[in-house]
Amino acid sequence: MSETKDTPRPDVVIVGAGPVGLFTAIQLKLRDPSLNILMLEKYKEYKRQHVLKIEAASLDTGIEDQRIQDLKKNLTGKTPTNRIENAFKSLAGELGVTILYGEHVTDVEALPKRFPSARYIIGAGGRRSIVRAQKFGDALLVNHNVMKVVFCKYRCKGKTERFGWMRSISLMHEADHTINELIGRPKDGVTAVTLQIFVSGNEYKQLGGFTFKNPATPETLRKACPTLSKSLDVWLRARIDEMKEERLDEPKINPVPLDVYQAAKVVKRESVEGKQVTWALVGDAAFGLPFFRALNDGLKSATKLSQSIVKDLHPPDPEPRQTTPSKKSKTMSSIKSSLSVSSAPSDPMQAYEAFFKRMAWWERQLVGSKATSINAGVSSVAASRKVKRSRVRVARKVASGSTSSMSGCAVS
Ligand SMILES: Cc1cc2nc3c(=O)[nH]c(=O)nc-3n(C[C@H](O)[C@H](O)[C@H](O)COP(=O)(O)OP(=O)(O)OC[C@H]3O[C@@H](n4cnc5c(N)ncnc54)[C@H](O)[C@@H]3O)c2cc1C
Repeated sequence: MSETKDTPRPDVVIVGAGPVGLFTAIQLKLRDPSLNILMLEKYKEYKRQHVLKIEAASLDTGIEDQRIQDLKKNLTGKTPTNRIENAFKSLAGELGVTILYGEHVTDVEALPKRFPSARYIIGAGGRRSIVRAQKFGDALLVNHNVMKVVFCKYRCKGKTERFGWMRSISLMHEADHTINELIGRPKDGVTAVTLQIFVSGNEYKQLGGFTFKNPATPETLRKACPTLSKSLDVWLRARIDEMKEERLDEPKINPVPLDVYQAAKVVKRESVEGKQVTWALVGDAAFGLPFFRALNDGLKSATKLSQSIVKDLHPPDPEPRQTTPSKKSKTMSSIKSSLSVSSAPSDPMQAYEAFFKRMAWWERQLVGSKATSINAGVSSVAASRKVKRSRVRVARKVASGSTSSMSGCAVS
C-alpha cells in the first residue's frame, strides 16, 4: 500500500503495532491531535496471552486525559499481552490513528518513498526489529545472555493465586528448581498462569527443539528433560491439590533465553530527496531486558519519544537575546563552566537518545545484581541436589554393607 486519497498522508509511520508502538502512537496523538499517524502491523490479530506486569509509573505520561487514567486503572498489574494490546488499539482507533494489519514490512528503505509525507519513521517491531536491522545496521552496544529460563503456561478455571513464600521455598526443595509464578487477573472466569523455571545450561540444551510455537507438553518433556519434568510434576500437582486448580488446557512448555541487548543508537536523521526524515527505535526494538522490566521501560521510552517528536516538530520560540546577561544567568553559566556540566542536549531527538542511554545503563545494573542473586539461588538448589544424591548413595552403600564409614563423603 502507498499513499492514496483514501489514506491520510502520515506525518509519522510506526513499524509494529505491539504495546510500545501503540502507546507511542496514542501519546503522539494526545500531544498533537493534528498529526497523522500510520501504523503497519504484520499480524492480523493479537494472540499473545502471556501475562505481563505493568507498573503504574510506566503509564505516567504527564497528559491530563481521563482515557490515560482509565488505561492505568485497567492495565496496571498482571495482564495478558493481548488484553493490553487490544486496550491500546481501541484507544488509538478512537484517537484517529490508522493501523494497517497484515502489513509485513520487509524493505525499510522503501518506506520514505511509499510515504513521502512521513517525517518520522519509528521502529517498534520488537526484538527482531527490521528498522534496527536495516536502518541502524543492527549495531548493538550490549548483547549477552544472563540466564536460561523455561516457561510453562496454561489457563485454569476461575481464580487462582501464588503459593505463599514459605510453601514456595519448601516446594522448590522438593522440586529441585527455582520457580517463579506469574498469575494473571481472571477474565471471563479464566486465569492465565505462567511458571518461570530457572534451569541449568544442560537442561536448556535438552529443550533445544521446543519453541514458543512448538512447545513441549508434560508428556513430551518427560523424555526430553527428565530432571525438569520431575520438578514440574511436583509443582503442577501441588497447584492442583492445594490451589484446587482446574486446568482448561494442557501446559505448554518452552525455553526462553534471558538476554540483555541495547541498540548502539536509537535516533538517525537523514535527508531523503531533499527532505529530512528522522528514524527512531523504541521498545524491544531498542532495548531488551529480562526479569519483566522490558515492557515497562518500553512504555517509558514511548512517553519520552512522543514528547521529543512533538518538541522537535514545534520548537519553542527562541528566547529574546539579552544584550546584558542578568546577574543570575552569569552566575549559572560560571557555575556550569567551573563544574564543566554539559547541559541537556537542545535537540529533542538527541535528548531522547540521551534519556534512553541513561535508562538502559541503570536497568542493566539492576539486571546484573538480580541475575547474581538468582544464580546464587540456582546454584544452591543445584548444590542441595548434589547433597541429596550423595546422601542417597551413602544410604545405599550403608544398606548394602559396602561401607562402614561416612567420612570423606560430601554430606554436610
Ligand atoms: C513470556 C514473556 C513474559 C514477559 N513478561 C514481562 C513483564 O511481566 N513485564 C515486562 O515489563 N515485560 C515483560 N516481557 C517483555 C515484553 O513482552 C516486551 O518488552 C514487550 O512486548 C515489548 O513490546 P514492543 O511493542 O516493543 O515489542 P513486541 O511486543 O515484540 O511488538 C512488536 C510488534 O511489531 C510487529 N512487527 C514485528 N516486525 C514487523 C514487521 N517487519 N512489519 C510489521 N510489523 C512487525 C509484531 O508483530 C508485534 O506486534 C515479557 C516477555 C515474554 C516473552
